[in-house]
Amino acid sequence: MTASSTPGLVCAHHHLYSSLARGMPAPPSAPHDFLSTLRQIWWRLDAALDLDTLYWSAKLGAVEALCSGTTGIIDHHESPNAIEGSLDVIAQACEEVGVRVVCAYGVTDRHGVDGGRRGLRENERFIRAGGRGLIGVHAAFTCGDELLHDAAGLATDLGVGVHIHVAEGIDDLEAGRRLSSLAREDWLLVHCVHLDRDLPGTIAHNPRSNMNNSVGYARPAARSNRIVLGTDGIGADMLEEFRLAYVAARNDDISASPDDAWAWLAASWDLLPECRDDRVTWSYDHVDSPWHVAFTPGIRAIDVVRADGEVLLADGRPTRVDLDQVRRKAAEAASRLHSALA
Ligand SMILES: [Zn+2]
Repeated sequence: MTASSTPGLVCAHHHLYSSLARGMPAPPSAPHDFLSTLRQIWWRLDAALDLDTLYWSAKLGAVEALCSGTTGIIDHHESPNAIEGSLDVIAQACEEVGVRVVCAYGVTDRHGVDGGRRGLRENERFIRAGGRGLIGVHAAFTCGDELLHDAAGLATDLGVGVHIHVAEGIDDLEAGRRLSSLAREDWLLVHCVHLDRDLPGTIAHNPRSNMNNSVGYARPAARSNRIVLGTDGIGADMLEEFRLAYVAARNDDISASPDDAWAWLAASWDLLPECRDDRVTWSYDHVDSPWHVAFTPGIRAIDVVRADGEVLLADGRPTRVDLDQVRRKAAEAASRLHSALA
């Protein structure tokens, strides 16, 4: 088979902190809606993270991204009991693997006003020290007006955008109204499933996560914003997310085409342009054709060569790190994390 190649792919919305969630113990009670899914699963997991478990979670996520041909990640992070330095840990883990990352700490008032302030300071500290980042906000519905206002102001001061979940579930229906005077073109608005108006910014569409959380279909094609694709923390296999984006669109509208979902995948390069100069060789020779890829599950990344010529993935194996060791250490970290949940 003749392999063909593409630039390095970009995951436009990830949560590297959630890589160790798989296999976690069942929650005390089964989630019955979006908010209880957050409370029973994600808000227990993020609270249990320390900087060591975060490091192995991010490293595993970065390695799995590379193995999927993804060389750029726009990450959104929360670890309320290990805030200070957390963005450095994520950036370091990605650097060790060779994957580019844009970090953000998702501020929130749900751990009190002080928690929100500490989150803002972590964003500011990281970016002022030269880190590549956006100002993270969890979501309008877990933030008071003052924190939203201050996050937007900090982003303006630092010349970066805001990375925020917007109207993912019906619990955040007020997001459009509350953000309408704050949002700007450089914001990254995640989900927008139930957004009741237009806001300026790029919309990150996460089809698998939306189905997994049963929040509804976001209808990205109906928006005039730039649309990009993210996984919302469920790996970083962007060809798989593209296939899901296509089939979810098609499930909603028979006239939807793989070309539409491919345009969303391609727009993700605007967020991390250097990835265009990375080169991924794939196990399939029509990988640049949306109509092929949409109907060809299981295409694998064989080699990844960074823009500067460094080989990061050779015959499916990462070169900078030992894949088996990362998996082993991540599994140990996962069992510590899962014990901390109990
Ligand atoms: Zn998310």
